[in-house]
Amino acid sequence: MSVRRRLVIGNWKMNGSKAENQQLLSDLVKLQNAAAANEAAAELAVCAPFPYLQQVADTLKDSAIGWGGQDASEHAKGAYTGEVSVAMLAEFGCAWVIVGHSERRAYHGETSDVVARKAAAAIAGGIAPVVCIGETQAEREAGNTLRVISSQLEPVLALGAEAVSKMVLAYEPVWAIGTGLTASPEQAQEVHAHIRSLLVQAGAPEQRVLYGGSVKAANAASLFAKEDIDGALVGGASLVATDFQGIANA
Ligand code: PEP
Repeated sequence: MSVRRRLVIGNWKMNGSKAENQQLLSDLVKLQNAAAANEAAAELAVCAPFPYLQQVADTLKDSAIGWGGQDASEHAKGAYTGEVSVAMLAEFGCAWVIVGHSERRAYHGETSDVVARKAAAAIAGGIAPVVCIGETQAEREAGNTLRVISSQLEPVLALGAEAVSKMVLAYEPVWAIGTGLTASPEQAQEVHAHIRSLLVQAGAPEQRVLYGGSVKAANAASLFAKEDIDGALVGGASLVATDFQGIANA
């Protein structure tokens, strides 16, 4: 039986406003306080748009809910217009940063090498990267899922066991993100078991591997029942406090 504590991270993406965030965060804190008595409760975090990190930090600072950014630069500082460094995120108390989300890979051309450098920068700056990987529909249909996962992870795992031991991985099949299609628990477990075998080879067998892709309160329990699924990275459902807490309680 695994001792890995479940982790549920919300990815707000480019959603929210000061007013909406305040409501969502206060509701989350109330729900989290109510769930706190449950020793098996999942660890929770939210990854918000950069301009709202101060609001998130102020609202969550006395709660058990962590927070983070949705991306960070691989560079420490300098002429990188529009980018945000790991040190800046750290100033806002971020414990987490998502790197390599499929939307960053698809719309901003991020390669797995860039993602690995971002993960390394996060670790150097004391923030845990949540490294996202996942295949497209076409790659799955061509029977290439596990090859794609291996190749996306190669430069990340090459950072070495010490670095990998500070990461969380998130398997997010691109075809399941925001589409309402979820990988079946069996499909997800097959990939998670593969990722686990790569983590074993990398010398960090107990790192948490989250599943992401249309996770809801209704399907979370069957996913979490699988041996190598240690929690979820949640997009849409993280914008509704009861849905997000429902996943955490699953
Ligand atoms: C995500 O963007 O990381 C995600 C999993 O989105 P959704 O839950 O909306 O599919």
